[in-house]
Amino acid sequence: MNFNIFESKEQNELAKNLFNAILEHIDEAAIITENNTIIFVNNKFLDYSGYTEEEIIKRSPLDFVHPDFLAMTKKNMESKSETPYEIWAIRKDKSQFPALLKPKMVNHYGKIFRVVTIKDLTQDKQYNQREQLLSTTLDQSHESIVITDADANIIYVNKQFCVLTDYTPDEVIGQNPKILQSGYHSRKFYENMWSILTKGKTWNGEFQNKKKNGELYWEKATITPIFDEQSKIKSYFAIKEDITNQKTIEINFKDTEIKYQELIKNAPLGIIIIDTNGNILTINTAMINFLGSPSIEATKSINMLTFPPLKAAGVSEQFQKCIDSKEKIRFENNYTSKWGKTLYYRLYLSPILNSNNEVTNILAIIEDISKEKQYEKGILEAKEKAEESDRLKDIFLANISHELRTPLNAIIGFGEMLKDNNNLIQEQKEYLRYIDDSANHLLSIINDLVDVSQLSLHQLTYTLERIKVCEIVEPLIPMLKQQLVAFQKEHLELVIHPYEEIKNIVLNTDKKRFTQIIINLVNNAIKYTNDGKIEVFYNVSNNQLIITVKDTGIGIPKDKQAIIFERFRQVEETLSRRYEGIGLGLSLVKDIVSLLNGKVWLESEVGKGSTFYVSFPIVNEEEKEQKEEPYQKSYSENFKNDKFTVLIVEDNIENKILISKILQQYNFNVVEASNGKEAIDILKKTPYINVVLMDLQMPVMDGIEATKIIRQTNPNIPIIAQTALSQTEDKEKALSAGCNDVLIKPFKKDQLLLKIIDNLKVS
Ligand code: ADP
Repeated sequence: MNFNIFESKEQNELAKNLFNAILEHIDEAAIITENNTIIFVNNKFLDYSGYTEEEIIKRSPLDFVHPDFLAMTKKNMESKSETPYEIWAIRKDKSQFPALLKPKMVNHYGKIFRVVTIKDLTQDKQYNQREQLLSTTLDQSHESIVITDADANIIYVNKQFCVLTDYTPDEVIGQNPKILQSGYHSRKFYENMWSILTKGKTWNGEFQNKKKNGELYWEKATITPIFDEQSKIKSYFAIKEDITNQKTIEINFKDTEIKYQELIKNAPLGIIIIDTNGNILTINTAMINFLGSPSIEATKSINMLTFPPLKAAGVSEQFQKCIDSKEKIRFENNYTSKWGKTLYYRLYLSPILNSNNEVTNILAIIEDISKEKQYEKGILEAKEKAEESDRLKDIFLANISHELRTPLNAIIGFGEMLKDNNNLIQEQKEYLRYIDDSANHLLSIINDLVDVSQLSLHQLTYTLERIKVCEIVEPLIPMLKQQLVAFQKEHLELVIHPYEEIKNIVLNTDKKRFTQIIINLVNNAIKYTNDGKIEVFYNVSNNQLIITVKDTGIGIPKDKQAIIFERFRQVEETLSRRYEGIGLGLSLVKDIVSLLNGKVWLESEVGKGSTFYVSFPIVNEEEKEQKEEPYQKSYSENFKNDKFTVLIVEDNIENKILISKILQQYNFNVVEASNGKEAIDILKKTPYINVVLMDLQMPVMDGIEATKIIRQTNPNIPIIAQTALSQTEDKEKALSAGCNDVLIKPFKKDQLLLKIIDNLKVS
């Protein structure tokens, strides 16, 4: 470069030397340009670029700029800006390096020079990159990192620290980590930590710390001292893992375990865990009590598989079974402990399996069920007692009904006899009708009670036989009509619809019980209807005979329609009810219908009337020849007696008199005996007796025994048993003892005469 700045050559020479000396000295590359042409370079620039001075002088500085930075450099040069800027420069060998350019404009009497120093940034950049990498790495860590200086002032925290604690770096840099302390740890804890750290050793431990918002958290920390070249501690590096969740689980687990232990300890059930050799691992107080053991020590020595009282109670066997089968077991037995205590227990065994599906332990829960058993026993006894008293009630009902029937026989009978007396005045006749009505009413109640008690005792008599509908339905007509009179409701219309089409249909039924059902329903219809009519229909549908009894009466509310079929239930169940009755009729209907394989149901609307339906299956078989037998014959009207003798064997005086009077009215001779023994004696002495009317229940000798004895010497004399019990059993007993027939009390005059005449004919 030519320096012609000064007048003298020397001065210029000196300036040049000084200038060179300075530029070489500054340890940075430098160039000077004039009109965008390099007029000076120092040696450093030659080092950086790999060119010689000759190769550079007179060239444009842009020749050494990376194309990406050309525009920017040009702009800088043209604007004569002195602001430093960075570019990438190109060496002679085409390699590139980052450079910081600091331009300075020099104006010398109108001549503009541009002095530019150039700093190679390669190393700076690398350092920054490293630092950045380190910082990014620390920031990306999932653990919080805190670096303090030797005095424990925080000089660095990473991102995770900020995320965890909610502090920003600015808030904590320069602070002591004490700001995180929660107060959980003692002073000693920290002293101990610092004594390790200040000795240059790494400390590992767990902190419970506090976030900026006061929330507590747990962290597991490793703090390491960092040394300088003189091996002096220059900082501490702490890396900390958030273990709050683990710690919470751990704490909860500990809590749970404590609770669990408490639970086992205080459970009212005996709990025991044993190993597969029978050794006790865990046992609670209730179990010790169950074993009746005096102490826990005594209990622990017990082997559950071999302890004799447990073996005797079957417990050991169940444990072994559970070990072998790996199945849960439930077992009940009684147990007498070695110490003499007896109780009932219920045992639940569960195998505890390891990951190889092998039984490692057995968990046993034992429940003392002695009280339960006692209670159960009590209930069973109470049930038996209740059943027994129910049975006794039924027997009582049967007996009392029987006892009532006998005097009723006399009342009805004498009433009937009085009716035939022409000397009665009108008033007496009226009273007599009241007696008669009341007695008949009482009789129907007693009959219902007898039926109910017999149903309960499964002794209700009925015989299913194939029978044509007309055979049952025809005799019913006068009986149904009679009910209107009996209820004094002759103003009601009773319509029995024609049944011609179905008259030959055959049912498998009991005629008496069938009649009882229909009469019961028609009775109710009459009883609960004040105006209008009662209709009876017979229809066939789906091979069933359906009998319908329809009335225009008071009707039955919907909510009562089911319960009225239960015993003693009525729509009106108060003492002020308007209709008589004891609530047995429909329950009998339902039970008897079901005995006859039928069904009963109803439709009703309050104020409009009720319709009861009964259905029975029709038997599809050949029609039987219809018997030409009128239903009721009145023997009393046309029987002509030729003086037959009847032996009346009866202990009840009123009945004896009654029967005797009736028979005498019809010209029978009567001989009387008060018990079986008397009857035998009389028969021996009185050969002209034609028929014996034998009561079954009598003192001294009953009718069965007497009949058997009579039959030994007198096989042919007709003996008619009379009884108030209508069970099949009694009838059969009487017949097999040798009676020819059975007459059920109470009986009407005609029934008595019919039986006697029938048996006289047989003889
Ligand atoms: P009881 O007539 O003796 O009370 P039942 O067993 O025959 O007993 O009937 C039970 C109840 O059903 C009766 O008390 C009455 O309330 C009601 N009930 C039965 N039949 C009829 C009917 N045709 N109309 C209205 N209510 C009836």
